[in-house]
Amino acid sequence: MDRLTSAAIKAKARELGFDACGVAPAAAHPELRFFDEWLARGYAGEMTYLHRSADRRADVRRILPSARTVIATATVYNTNRPYSTECADPERAHVARYAWGDDYHDVLAERLDALLAWMRDASPDPFDARAYVDTGPVQERVYAQHAGIGWIGKNTCVINPDLGSWVFLAEIICSLSLDTDAPAFDRCGTCTLCLEACPTQALVAPGVLDSTRCVSYLTIELRGAIPDALRPGIGSHAFGCDVCQEVCPWNATPAISGDPAWQPRRAWDGADLVSLSRKSDEELREAMAGSAMRRAKVEGLRRNLAVALDNMKESPLA
Ligand code: SF4
Ligand code: SF4
Repeated sequence: MDRLTSAAIKAKARELGFDACGVAPAAAHPELRFFDEWLARGYAGEMTYLHRSADRRADVRRILPSARTVIATATVYNTNRPYSTECADPERAHVARYAWGDDYHDVLAERLDALLAWMRDASPDPFDARAYVDTGPVQERVYAQHAGIGWIGKNTCVINPDLGSWVFLAEIICSLSLDTDAPAFDRCGTCTLCLEACPTQALVAPGVLDSTRCVSYLTIELRGAIPDALRPGIGSHAFGCDVCQEVCPWNATPAISGDPAWQPRRAWDGADLVSLSRKSDEELREAMAGSAMRRAKVEGLRRNLAVALDNMKESPLA
């Protein structure tokens, strides 16, 4: 049996539905070092799990000492819904695109497991590996950049020059010595559109996100009340926020996925705030079942809807 190559892994990844795949060295990349400073500034807010896992996040070799490479993947979740236009309507609930369809953790974990199972069959030598979809103690954007998937934009998202930034990242850390890709280089240039468009000024510097101000954090991760000063910035966001990606020129003609897994669920597709807020807990729970929206729980969603309804009443457009 021939040695397993990067090219063969990439071809298999495509066959399994991943839109991009690259290989990064499992090395001490300089960008990994910023994370501790970001935590020290308090930008993680209540996401205490990030502090607890900081040591492991510093280098993938802390979670897999034999690691030599990181196989990074990107999967387009953008669909052909004209959502930007709809979300300008203050009466409609804005749900971040990544949560429109099925929970990506489940869908991608299955595909990543299939890729890893294939690699084990195809490799003449046994190897160690760990597969992660977002929830692992891995700074996956840094490895995606070093795998040539895309650069980390000033909006902190990984941007692929052909696909845009509406992509899920997932990776396999392994002990195989594979050919690695050249890192992606920064193409933001002098653009600052995302920093200017952020409704809560959460992008405090290029590529630096203060999560405690970010609508995504406030509507998903935060438990308890949303601070008064930040409520107007929530606008009609019921779950998450895409503004800094919507304004990005690299998403002007983004890739579109026809994958049934990511298509918007009827309950959230252009839903209006008033009807959503009138739904029973059971109905809301049912509408969130199997979706990444479960993370906010019914209580969190009701809190967000209440803030969005207040904003709607204040809006000159309503
Ligand atoms: S997701 Fe929204 S609130 Fe967060 S940084 Fe981007 S534009 Fe700002
Ligand atoms: S909006 Fe401009 S600065 Fe922000 S990520 Fe996109 S290209 Fe970079």
